[in-house]
Amino acid sequence: MSTPAADVLKPDFAASRRHFIFTDEHDRLRESIHAFVTKELAPHAEEWEETTFPDSVFHRMGELGLLGLSYPEEYGGQGGDYFCNLVLAEEMTHCNSGGLAMGVAVHTDMATPPIHLFGSDEQKQRYLVPAIAGQKIACLGITEPDAGSDVSGIRTRAVRDGDEWVIDGAKTYITNGHRADFIVLVVKTDPDAGHDGISLFIVDMDLPGVVREQRLQKLGMHSSDTALLAFQGVRVPADALLGQEGKGFYHIMWELQGERLIGAAGCVAGAQRAFDKTLRYAMERQAFGRSIGHFQVIRHKFAEMATQIEAARQLVYTTAWRFAGGEYPVREISMAKLYAARVACEVTDECLQIHGGAGYMKEFGIERAWRDMRLNRIGAGTDEIMLDVIGRSYGL
Ligand SMILES: Cc1cc2nc3c(=O)[nH]c(=O)nc-3n(C[C@H](O)[C@H](O)[C@H](O)COP(=O)(O)OP(=O)(O)OC[C@H]3O[C@@H](n4cnc5c(N)ncnc54)[C@H](O)[C@@H]3O)c2cc1C
Repeated sequence: MSTPAADVLKPDFAASRRHFIFTDEHDRLRESIHAFVTKELAPHAEEWEETTFPDSVFHRMGELGLLGLSYPEEYGGQGGDYFCNLVLAEEMTHCNSGGLAMGVAVHTDMATPPIHLFGSDEQKQRYLVPAIAGQKIACLGITEPDAGSDVSGIRTRAVRDGDEWVIDGAKTYITNGHRADFIVLVVKTDPDAGHDGISLFIVDMDLPGVVREQRLQKLGMHSSDTALLAFQGVRVPADALLGQEGKGFYHIMWELQGERLIGAAGCVAGAQRAFDKTLRYAMERQAFGRSIGHFQVIRHKFAEMATQIEAARQLVYTTAWRFAGGEYPVREISMAKLYAARVACEVTDECLQIHGGAGYMKEFGIERAWRDMRLNRIGAGTDEIMLDVIGRSYGL
């Protein structure tokens, strides 16, 4: 039986956009996270911009099982796959608060993965289990006042003293740094060994000598707390070492790959959200006797943005599919991070422009997205560092 040509050729722009990496189970997870985020988080977005979000968000998300979606059930996780983390990162954009999404992502996808992969069983019981339950909050300390992109240039030292290590130094721009119960800390254990002289430690933030200095003021991400931390003769037991001594640089480079991919997924979802919001606005807003979306110039802006978002999404999903399959596609992860962050910044900028004066006003939420998004071209590795990683991967 032949199918009428009209049925075959008619474009279906409303067709489901589900990518092959996702299943019905991911769809159900997406729906439940979406319901939680829009009901319990989004209504507080304005208030939390002023006060930073409360720790109770972690407790509640732990209760709901959202802080350990891909961790094994034996540690209290949900036993899901890596794509569940992408779903969480994407749905968190609906909380209307980049800082909140970032604070949660630092906990779930930056500070705890190294404990899961490199930690001893004792460390997992002590830190990973309560982190998944939302009872302990985690942060990650790489950046220092004098070293960010150049991780090998860090100066924070851990010196062995009998059964203990003594840590001295400083970390800055640390997300969750004021609220965290523990930090995964990158330090030098052998200053003469270059990349092989770096190690990771898990440090309780209530130990003597850990000083939470300034709460840093920033352009965006206001609902998150960002700390300058000092470590002054902090004594930790030998078993606070995470992973292998001297292998911390490689451990943290591995961590950064997952972090960058999750960040890229958040960028795509954030860009899509700004796009959707702006499309509605462009349909409603009238100028010169028509809705502004019907001016060709504006229509083409949407076409450009939609194409960029779709290209970024495909790059992120395909790379995530390889990563979840056990590959270590550093080049493509760097491309995805670079491209998605740029797209997110360009799209939110264009969306602000399309909103006109309203885009500059707080009540429309676009100016906040614009400010929040800007961090993505800096945090977790700048654009320039991503370009360098990509370029070097060709032997240059
Ligand atoms: C809001 C916020 C939250 C953050 N959260 C955390 C956190 O939780 N934990 C943490 O450890 N860090 C965190 N960071 C730090 C972030 O990862 C660093 O800011 C970032 O890696 C850049 O380091 P830097 O700021 O020292 O810049 P620098 O390294 O000083 O770079 C300055 C400029 O020089 C360029 N540059 C440097 N090296 C090269 C090169 N080789 N080639 C070309 N250009 C180069 C950079 O691209 C950049 O444009 C956060 C930062 C911010 C702003």
